[in-house]
Amino acid sequence: MTENARSHGRLSVSASLKPRDLMAERPRLRGAWTARVITLFPEAFPGILGLSLTGKALDQGLWALEPIDLRPFGEGKHRNVDDTPAGGGAGMVLRADVVAKALDQAAIGTPPDRARWPVVYLSPRGAPFTQATARRFAAAEGLTLLCGRFEGVDERVLEEYAVEEVSLGDFVLTGGEIAAEALIDATVRLLPGVLGNAASTEDESHSAGLLEHPHYTRPAEWRGRPIPEVLLSGNHGAVERWRRDMAERLTEARRPDLWAAYRRKPD
Ligand code: SAH
Repeated sequence: MTENARSHGRLSVSASLKPRDLMAERPRLRGAWTARVITLFPEAFPGILGLSLTGKALDQGLWALEPIDLRPFGEGKHRNVDDTPAGGGAGMVLRADVVAKALDQAAIGTPPDRARWPVVYLSPRGAPFTQATARRFAAAEGLTLLCGRFEGVDERVLEEYAVEEVSLGDFVLTGGEIAAEALIDATVRLLPGVLGNAASTEDESHSAGLLEHPHYTRPAEWRGRPIPEVLLSGNHGAVERWRRDMAERLTEARRPDLWAAYRRKPD
């Protein structure tokens, strides 16, 4: 475990684990930021989250992932989780009673306060997911994510359980699983110790309301294209000014909405 992880106060290995268990499987950490994911496809997790920095952090117990299979909560011999939409039309709708049982299971041991533990339905009708949302989720103790399939979920269960709807963008996916992994990725990388270099979340795109400046690396010249001279000058002040200038020009050209909001900010 890194120094960073050790200084993270909420982490404590549960006392029942023997060193042997710790080596054999992922350490179970009491208090580590946890994502509980209700899904018909638990095998989709951790998926890409099991690789690279998020995977390493998962192995280190800096965060935890608990997929909850929706299927066993289904009705009858076939464990049906969905039914035809009231009022007719195409597709199927996940049943309120079935989803409620999974949400009850997911709620065990979590604070009822939605600020401390958000309960989120991934949905194209939701509020757009942004860096600010990721920061809010990272500041919570964990969250529960509900992945929809087919036409979606019976509205009543969303109301009854004060479920927040979050969208990955203005497009329609087949299911909530890819959206859940994207949301978790953006959130987990903000947790202390997950990125090796903590400074790298400070000036990247969207953190200060600007898109990030362009990057370059060796070779110094490639297919007749040199690296901008200032970046090789060793003049840190000039490099900073150039990066800020490029970030502003890019944001103005590509994202007038972000640019207008940035210009309105007091500082
Ligand atoms: N009939 C719905 C779309 C259902 S898509 C509608 O028109 O609003 C099936 C599932 O995929 C949804 O229940 C949701 O969980 C997920 N999904 C689809 N698009 C998404 C998006 N842009 N963001 C987050 N989740 C999405």
